[in-house]
Order: sequence, then structure tokens, then C-alpha cells
Amino acid sequence: MTREYLKKATKTAQTDASDVRATVMGILDDIQAGGDEAALRYAAKFDQWDGPVLLTSEDIAAAAAKVPQQLKDDIAFAHNNVRNFAETQKTTMTDVTLEVVPGLIAGQKVIPVQAAGCYVPGGRYSHVASAIMTVTTAKVAGCKHITVCSPPKPGEGVNPAIIYAAHLCGADKILSMGGVQGVAAMTYGLFGLPEADILVGPGNQFVAEAKRILFGRVGIDMVAGPTDSLILADKTADAFLVATDLVSQAEHGYNSPVWLVTDDRDLAETVMTMVPKLIEDLPELNRDNAEAAWRDYAEVILCADRAEMAATSDEYAPEHLTVMAEDLDWWLDTLSCYGSLFLGEETTVSFGDKASGTNHVLPTSRAAKYTGGLSVHKFMKIVTWQRATREGCKPVAEATARISRLEGMEGHARAADARLAKFFPGENFN
Ligand code: NAD
Repeated sequence: MTREYLKKATKTAQTDASDVRATVMGILDDIQAGGDEAALRYAAKFDQWDGPVLLTSEDIAAAAAKVPQQLKDDIAFAHNNVRNFAETQKTTMTDVTLEVVPGLIAGQKVIPVQAAGCYVPGGRYSHVASAIMTVTTAKVAGCKHITVCSPPKPGEGVNPAIIYAAHLCGADKILSMGGVQGVAAMTYGLFGLPEADILVGPGNQFVAEAKRILFGRVGIDMVAGPTDSLILADKTADAFLVATDLVSQAEHGYNSPVWLVTDDRDLAETVMTMVPKLIEDLPELNRDNAEAAWRDYAEVILCADRAEMAATSDEYAPEHLTVMAEDLDWWLDTLSCYGSLFLGEETTVSFGDKASGTNHVLPTSRAAKYTGGLSVHKFMKIVTWQRATREGCKPVAEATARISRLEGMEGHARAADARLAKFFPGENFN
């Protein structure tokens, strides 16, 4: 690689991981031992919340009354798109049956997990779209019970639009509790909830670490850290749109990396001049996040050609990947590591984050090397079954007995022998 860093990050997502694990383990241990009462204590400590936590139908109706009609229409638009996309994804997972050898039939069945726990982040921003993305997808998959938990704002509770969206998309229960205590409540079945079989949804480092520690006892969609985004741009790209899109993703948090990879030095330099000005123009919270993310985590990388750009992108395996370059089909064919890909300047990551139908719960911190994002598939188990006729049983039993003996597993061998002896008495098998 001949690539040149015009701007290099001084920090990565791993930089801040140190104390989080110990903190989260302590909270989980306390809540496992202390149940509802311990979870409430942490809600008071971290979110200054001592109001009711399990929302009633009156709470849900009161929240709906506070949501303006235009926002309700927009939530319905996004919900429809996410549901349609998930329904189409579901058709790619089907039951199958195969006669493996004459007389032995095996198959797969696709069964949704029973209880899903959806985390909807709410610390910095009110992630209404995360409610749509997680709950709709669980519902389409066929989960029998869906719980949402989201952090309350001190003195206010959960944002009414999050409550409205969660209810509209199919949540059965909504818990006004965030962070580790919210994740623990869904996992351990506190406050009368069913114990979750799978936890999904984005969250900050405490939420992500809680999911990582609890994995095994409960399924998870993925361990998602701070959001990250990469833009591939050539000389045909509009520098203003590139800069705007970089800033739009840097506002997620102080530790949200954005990367620009290009083969055009002029474009890179123009974008690097524009970004600080666009950040300066944001409201305060967004500006603070974007400023820190740009200063510490952002990179601008100059490559020799598009092949090197594509290889660099695959190495970074970004959560969000945007291409603003000629020949979009070449990029679609060539790129292989990303959570969600946005091709051309007519779309943008913000569309996928909010309303276009693809899911915004996506792998971060290079997890796109081994997984895609949230989909109906994450809520569905592929299980297998088999049955056989006596004739079908015979060759499989003989092979099984021999393989088992070679492995030293005499008990397994005898289970096979017993079939042969019962169904084919008098025959000699070795
Ligand atoms: P959050 O809901 O994830 O976290 C808030 C909770 O953190 C609080 O309820 C509190 O209990 C807990 N907390 C705060 N400080 C703590 C401490 N010191 N010790 C223990 N617990 C503590 O909201 P957030 O903080 O705004 O983070 C949202 C995250 O979700 C961001 O990192 C954002 O990038 C990410 N996100 C990702 C996607 C995606 O698809 N990848 C989408 C939306 C948001």
C-alpha cells in the first residue's frame, strides 16, 4: 500500500475500554443478587430516576398524546419501510427437507426466539429510530414477547416519541430504565418481565459491555461499540456533501470515528477545510461531540487508486460505508466488509439511520469483518431434525459404530449397534 495519512487518529475505540468491564460486572452482580430493588437503586444513581419503571397502557396513551401528528406520520413511514425490508429478508430463511441417504430424511426448521429484549439508547440523543429498527424486526421475525428498555431523562422519563414508536411497532412491555440496569432487568426477568432470550440494540460502552458479559446466558445481536463511518470519494465527489456526511456521523459521540478515503488530494484538502466550519455551526451538544470525534478519531487517507481505496475500506470494515465515486457497480461488486453500504450522493447514512428501511443496528469496531447488522435472521434459530426408515438406519448405524469406536466412544457405538441388533437380527456387522 502506498497510502498517505493526511490526518491520523490519536485514539481508537479500544482506547477507553479499560475500566468499563469491572464497573459493569459489579453492577450486574449487584442486580443479580438484589433484583428489582438493586436495579432501581442504579436507575436513581445513573439517571436520577425514581418514578415508575414499567409503563402502563395509560402511560403509553399519555405519551402518544404528546407526539405531534407530523412526527407520528414520519414514524409510520419509517416503520413501513423497515417492516417491508424485514419481511422480504424473512423469505430468505425457510424450512428445508432432504433425503440424505435412501430412507433417512433430515431437515431444518426456522423458529423465532420467544422473548426479545430491545435496548433503545437515550443518553445523549432520543433514538426513536432504534425503537423502530429493533422492535419492528423482532415482530416480523415472529418473537412472542418483545420488551423495550430505554433510559429516562431526569424528571421527564422516556421520550414520548420513543414510547409511541415502540408501542406502534409492537413492543409488549416498555421499561423506563437504561444502561446496565435496563439490560440486566430484561435478562434476569425483573419487574415481572419474561427473561429475554436475545438482547439487541445499540448503546454506549456500558450497554455494549453488559451484553458481552451476559452473552451465553442470553443471545445477543452483536457487540456494538461507538458508531463509525467511512466515505470513499473520488474526483467526481461533491466536497460539500462529503464534508456534511462526515460531520453528520461525527455528531454521534466524542468517540465516533469518521474516515475519508480518496485518491484525490484536492478533494481531501477541501473537505478538511470545510469540516471544522460545518462542526462550528452545529448546536452545542452535537458540536462538542463532532469536534472531539474529528480531533481525536478522524482520519483522511490518500490512496493511489480505487483498488487501494477499496482494500483500505475492507481493512477498516466500517459500520457505515458511503461511496461517492464513478462506477457504483464496481464498488458494489468489489467491497466486502461493511455493515451497510450507501452508493452515490442521492442517498446518505442518515437515510439508513432513520427511515429508508435497512436496519441501523450495525457492527462497529471492525466487527463487519465477520457479521452483518441486525436483521430478522438474528431473531430466528435454524434447528435441525431427522427420522429414518429401518433400511435408512442400517448404513448410518454401521458407519456410526465404526467412527465411534475409532474415537474411543464405546457408548455411542453401542447406541448404533443396538439399532442393528433390533432391526436386523441374525446379521453380522463389523
Ligand atoms: P445509552 O442509552 O446507550 O446509555 C445511557 C445509560 O448509560 C444511562 O441510562 C446510564 O445508566 C448509563 N451510564 C452512563 N454513565 C454511566 C457510568 N459511569 N457507569 C455506568 N452506567 C452509566 O445512551 P448514550 O450514552 O447516548 O449512547 C448511545 C450509543 O449508541 C452511542 O455510542 C451511539 O453511537 C450508539 N448508537 C449506535 C447505533 C448503531 O446502530 N450502531 C445507533 C444509535 C446509537
